[in-house]
Amino acid sequence: MAKKYIIANWKMNPSSSEEAIRLVRGILSQTLPKNIELIIAPPFIYLDLVKKNFFAKGGSAFGGKNEIKLAAQNVGWFERGAFTGEISGLMLKNIGCDYVIIGHSERRHKIGETDEMINLKLKAAFKSGLNPILAIGEKERGDDIIKVLNSQIKSDLYGIDASEIGRLIIAYEPVWAIGTGLSDTPDHALSSALLVRKIIGNLYTPDFAIDLPVLYGGSVTAENAADFIGQTGINGALVGGASLNIEEFLKIIKFAE
Ligand code: PEP
Repeated sequence: MAKKYIIANWKMNPSSSEEAIRLVRGILSQTLPKNIELIIAPPFIYLDLVKKNFFAKGGSAFGGKNEIKLAAQNVGWFERGAFTGEISGLMLKNIGCDYVIIGHSERRHKIGETDEMINLKLKAAFKSGLNPILAIGEKERGDDIIKVLNSQIKSDLYGIDASEIGRLIIAYEPVWAIGTGLSDTPDHALSSALLVRKIIGNLYTPDFAIDLPVLYGGSVTAENAADFIGQTGINGALVGGASLNIEEFLKIIKFAE
């Protein structure tokens, strides 16, 4: 059975190291299934702490009893130097990140990140050896998703070579569904995931489209997770709010098993 991805996006939470440790330990209170790639995306400031606590508690990055991967929630596109406040791809790689979320709608719409910036970040991520999780999606329910997804994918991946694309994950996240409690319907999420594959197939080759992990994100909870993760054309879920509730998040992981 194909591997499913579950990504916990902690966003700008929690507000203390103690709480971050409690979350990691909570996840470790259960033996994690082997057929999922569990990826935790804490704020930058907790990346090292999450890694150390996880490993100290018997977790492993190399196939031990429990395994998690680390993702950053953002990356700067500069390699090094006088860029106050920025974090480079190499720094993230060196601290133990395998993944980075790029183009999250909160960064696009609340912080003003453009497709041009997202394209630079994707290029920087690939160059530093990180696997980018590109988030895309329409702003309003009923928007023309063929137009929106085509435009986002084409501009975000502009100039990115086919040799890199095998490391890409795409998260289809309708903006209206993020943090609102109004999740997409499983049918619409599936048809959007198929559209993403079609666009990638046209831009690169059909083989990339088949192998590309396409996830759903937008108010995933323990109640609806199985409806999305259970679809063969959806390779997992990007979970925001529900990933901060240990009990609920463990249930979501269980559905992916
Ligand atoms: C997200 O952070 O990408 C997300 C989908 O959040 P939520 O699950 O809270 O809607």
